[in-house]
Amino acid sequence: MPSNVDGYVPESAMVVVAHPDDAEFMVAGTVAKWARLGTTVTYVVVTKGDKGSEDPEMTPSRLTEIREAEQRAAGAVLGVKHFEFMGYPDGYLVHTLELRRDIARLIRKHRPEVVFCFDPENRFFGNGYTNHPDHRTSGDATVDAIFPTARDRLTFPELLADGLEPWKVKQLWMGATAQPDAWVDIGDTLELKQKALAAHPSQFGEDVIGFVIGMSRGMAAGQDFEYAEAFRRIIFDQPDFGANES
Ligand SMILES: [Zn+2]
Repeated sequence: MPSNVDGYVPESAMVVVAHPDDAEFMVAGTVAKWARLGTTVTYVVVTKGDKGSEDPEMTPSRLTEIREAEQRAAGAVLGVKHFEFMGYPDGYLVHTLELRRDIARLIRKHRPEVVFCFDPENRFFGNGYTNHPDHRTSGDATVDAIFPTARDRLTFPELLADGLEPWKVKQLWMGATAQPDAWVDIGDTLELKQKALAAHPSQFGEDVIGFVIGMSRGMAAGQDFEYAEAFRRIIFDQPDFGANES
């Protein structure tokens, strides 16, 4: 089966993830592929990733700095243009109206055609892994920030007061999903994905590379290419009745 999405290249894309390094696992091959073809890509990292260390000498504030620098370096490898670090504490993410508004603020600011986030419905991966609560929460808040929050004029009027006009995202692509229906051939950018992962030395060593190659091969099962990133895709194609359809 050929990829059902190759040939689609959006003008702009925003990747909303919970931690520095999440985007590399989920979407780096697609980001590198699209950035090469002219897509303007923005990374939004919701938490500081300030709990991700077992080093007894490490402090949360030092780790925050290290991980932001690693995320910028990884994004640079892939051709990411803009970075937004929202600064929420790692491990404690809750879907509040404040979080939803803050993500909607960035959607209105950058006006992406496509938004990537975690599939909030995926709580378990098989029988060996439970999804990180920050992953699910960031996904849930992003889905709700896209629709209806970013779109509706009268929701969070402080955004409008800041000059941020409503914005309709055209497509939502959810990663780390149990229900994929869109497969991107990342054979040409798998090497860049590996390089971007290697830009996070505070988080993992070389073994991550073998893991990610295996994962990319697994995601391509049933496709007519070898390495894939897989997503669950929503295409917002409701007719526009004007006022405030919901
Ligand atoms: Zn994570």
